[in-house]
Amino acid sequence: MALKFTMQAICAVLFILISFITINTIRFGKATNTSVKSVVAAKIDITASARRLADLVQIKTISVSPKSPVAENAFFEMHDTIAKSFPLAHAKMEREILGDFSLLYRWPGSRPDLKPILFIAHMDVVPVEQSTLSQWSHDPFSGSIDDGFIWGRGTLDMKASLAGILEAVENLVGQGFEPTRTLYLAFSHDEELGGTHGTASIVKALKNRGVKLLFTLDEGMPISMGLVPGVSGPVALIGLAEKGRVTLELTAHDKGGHSSMPPSKTAVGKLSRALNQLTANQFPARLQSPTTEMFANLAPIMSLDYRIALANTWISQAMIISQLEKTPAGNATVRTTTAPTIIQGGLKPNILPTISRAVVDFRILLGDTVASVRRHVIDTIDDTDISVRIVGNKPSDPTMVSDRSSASYLMLKRSILQVFPNVTVAPGLVIGRTDSHHYSEIAENSFRFLPMRLGPDDLKRMHGIDERIAISNYAEFIQFYIHLISNSIGGRLHNEKRIEAMESTIKYKM
Ligand SMILES: [Zn+2]
Repeated sequence: MALKFTMQAICAVLFILISFITINTIRFGKATNTSVKSVVAAKIDITASARRLADLVQIKTISVSPKSPVAENAFFEMHDTIAKSFPLAHAKMEREILGDFSLLYRWPGSRPDLKPILFIAHMDVVPVEQSTLSQWSHDPFSGSIDDGFIWGRGTLDMKASLAGILEAVENLVGQGFEPTRTLYLAFSHDEELGGTHGTASIVKALKNRGVKLLFTLDEGMPISMGLVPGVSGPVALIGLAEKGRVTLELTAHDKGGHSSMPPSKTAVGKLSRALNQLTANQFPARLQSPTTEMFANLAPIMSLDYRIALANTWISQAMIISQLEKTPAGNATVRTTTAPTIIQGGLKPNILPTISRAVVDFRILLGDTVASVRRHVIDTIDDTDISVRIVGNKPSDPTMVSDRSSASYLMLKRSILQVFPNVTVAPGLVIGRTDSHHYSEIAENSFRFLPMRLGPDDLKRMHGIDERIAISNYAEFIQFYIHLISNSIGGRLHNEKRIEAMESTIKYKM
């Protein structure tokens, strides 16, 4: 009798549990109706546009220390080529050179009471390793157009975006478009070096003028073509936040001496122990916004097993985290990461060094701070013979999470869907650093998205060998920026013929 009763109770509880999980899963998997009208694509001459991008790729705007003559020549050539390639845009926009080589454009709108928006791109590119030159199928600075692609360093990161934005402005000016809201374009020359000079100068100038931005748009996340596990089909990811960063130097001190009489603790030994402690005591993992929102938005296109797990995080959270921890990229989305990058100490085999030094790079998850990371390191090492200090680029806390219910986010999402009707749009967390964190003080929201279709094969091309962009994708870049600009700065077209085509985009109210 007792056994029968217990079995019935277990069955009842199980039934309730399964029903609850099922309901959650069904609710979680509901697609939101976006009802975005597709619009007539703007007329562009992609052959000429591709040529103009290739011209910019040919200029070796490699990030080097500021004021070097090499940089000076390349960046001034870049300025001139941009001006010559986009004459209509240059006739309408004001241009300033700030922080030596960075560019700030302003396309004034008719309504100064509306908060302006700002698009970010960088002119600089990372260098090409000499030893890899022979592995490039086209010279990295040739700007070759071949096999349906534009080839070269910076095509993806991020001259296609820079040129795509200018193509869009050129196109809109050509149509007689007159903006209501002011648009800024900020093209820095030192993003790959941290943006501490060029970007910082732009931000300082805007701040001094009291400019408050509605939102900024920068690189950070792409259109994923199979990069998100459990999802088939393209996903446009909009980065709502980015992790912070701090680099710490650990220095172990010792008296030194001859290696024939080593003490029980040496500088090298202390440092090794400290690094071991840090590696063994990782920061705790958390599933939190905006990663949780990413999963919620992707649920309708995820396979059932993923959907069940993600819809019921009250029981599956630990399992999801352990799955994410299995890959470096997944792990980076759930915790502050610890990466030892430099280790030094000792000169000769028979001398005990007095100093041994290591550098550890931390990428800080939202919820942690530069100060809390430093505290964790000191507490974990727990060794007064080791000093800890901040080195490298200025440390930064994680950014705030931009508002995904804001008009700006919804407008961005709408613009993406107008050009890419078959993608699913979802917010996400940027695990690297972009220029946009410099603007956080003066921007209401910051979004990080490039309309770049990126598959597993393309990932290694960024900062790697055979960087390239498909011409068809570049055409999508231009269409996207035309839609985004007209949607966000709203304006008037003189050319009667074009009004109909553009109206559905311009009608959108901010
Ligand atoms: Zn970049």
